[in-house]
Amino acid sequence: MKTITALIAGETITTGEAPIAVIDPASDTLIAELPEADGATVDRAVAAARRAFEDGAWRLASVEQRQAVLRRAADLIDAAADELADIECANTGVPLSQIRGRSVPRAADNFRFFADYIGQATGRLYEQHPDYLTMVRREPVGVAALISPWNSPIALGSMKIASAIAFGNSCVIKPSEQAPLGITQLTALLGDAGLPDGVVNLVNGRGATTGDRLVRHPDVDLVSFTGGTPTGRVIMRTAGELLKPASVELGGKSANIIFDDADFERAVDGALLGIFTNNGQQCLAGSRILVQRGIADRFVEAFVERARRIRVGDPRDPATEIGPLVSRRHMEHVLGFVPAGETGLSVLTGGRAAPGLEQGCYVEPTLVRAERQDLRVCQEEIFGPFATLSVFDTEEEAWQMANATRFGLVAYVWSESVQRIMTAQERLAAGTVWCNTPMMRELRAPFGGWKESGIGSDGGLECEAFFTHAKTVSIPRRPLPLRKLGA
Ligand code: NAP
Repeated sequence: MKTITALIAGETITTGEAPIAVIDPASDTLIAELPEADGATVDRAVAAARRAFEDGAWRLASVEQRQAVLRRAADLIDAAADELADIECANTGVPLSQIRGRSVPRAADNFRFFADYIGQATGRLYEQHPDYLTMVRREPVGVAALISPWNSPIALGSMKIASAIAFGNSCVIKPSEQAPLGITQLTALLGDAGLPDGVVNLVNGRGATTGDRLVRHPDVDLVSFTGGTPTGRVIMRTAGELLKPASVELGGKSANIIFDDADFERAVDGALLGIFTNNGQQCLAGSRILVQRGIADRFVEAFVERARRIRVGDPRDPATEIGPLVSRRHMEHVLGFVPAGETGLSVLTGGRAAPGLEQGCYVEPTLVRAERQDLRVCQEEIFGPFATLSVFDTEEEAWQMANATRFGLVAYVWSESVQRIMTAQERLAAGTVWCNTPMMRELRAPFGGWKESGIGSDGGLECEAFFTHAKTVSIPRRPLPLRKLGA
């Protein structure tokens, strides 16, 4: 059984406060107990990160040296891919095939992407003033607190680590107490990539204790957070009080708009992938399906038929398409949205725990017809294999329904009309608009939410802006006459 409290400057710490039970949601059994990192352990982790930053071995290393380490980290992740995927699957319940095919390769890509990016990053030079050269340089900020969620720990945690350290920062990551095992294992691997001790540290524990202590620590200079909107508010409040830069990537309730001129088969495939990938536990899930009236009946029939055939079961089975949700508590949260006779709602398929799989946290793929967007089921993030379906008539109605949410993470639109796609990408209030495609992540482009989906983004330029300070330096071209005070 794993018992890792913290990884600090290359040392593994296994003692701590009250242990956190980590379960395998496929069988609801205990697979690890993590003693929680207490205040003193968080302090040690931050001190190690601070020492590593100040001594400059990483911060002042050449770009080529940093690139080599980041690329070695990616190679180590590739080499350990099967082991990482197994542990992530056991801890999250996400199908092994999706973790092995998508999340672990993405973790390696994150390191390679930032290795490439820093090789091309440039400063700015202003020469308009005839007497001065003014340059804008970027320097690493210092010690970053990285707080990551449980839904895709390896992919999202590695994005935070890679983007923080690529620019010369050191960091302390606190994974979610619910799914810390995969990212803990990945962090342990990084020591072999040639990173100086203390550049990447990890503390395990609960958000409200270990996480809060980390965010508040006076030696933490900035906070990068991904998680739910309520926690994002707490982080922003704390960071605001302490005047620390914070980036918060939060929840979503994304519309998936399907027009009657869409490529029907692709739109059905895309809608199923959009809501059921990663067991539906994705910030970017297309959880509000909006269909134009002309194809609505046909769409419902096709979607429901396919949803009923989705293979729900053991996430280790290569044939499984939906595994268990992360915990029994989360399963109850998801099932709590199943309508029980409320006006304007009806279950089209699913809506219950998957029969025959009572030992784990399995929910049937669910589609609920919703007559209005102001219903709770269309407004709150459910974060499971659970979509709503609503019908619209006109384009204008589609944009209004899609934007009738406090979130603004992504939007999907399916239409064969170029004109419609052009209008859609203008009218949809979201940080990312995917047209005729399910999720497509271009790491160079920003990924971040509008409205209550967050403040700040991932992406090349965006991470550079967040993880570095700008420094403006002005140098006279020649000795210039100065006013002589008191002469
Ligand atoms: P969460 O409950 O907000 O937790 C996120 C992280 O914050 C966890 O590590 C949590 O630790 C920690 N935390 C909780 N309270 C804290 C505090 N007071 N101070 C410091 N840290 C604290 O979110 P989640 O349930 O793990 O993740 C699901 C949410 O993440 C969904 O809303 C999803 O949409 C969002 N998400 C967004 C994106 C994006 O890119 N926009 C990507 C993925 C997920 P504990 O778990 O140990 O409490």
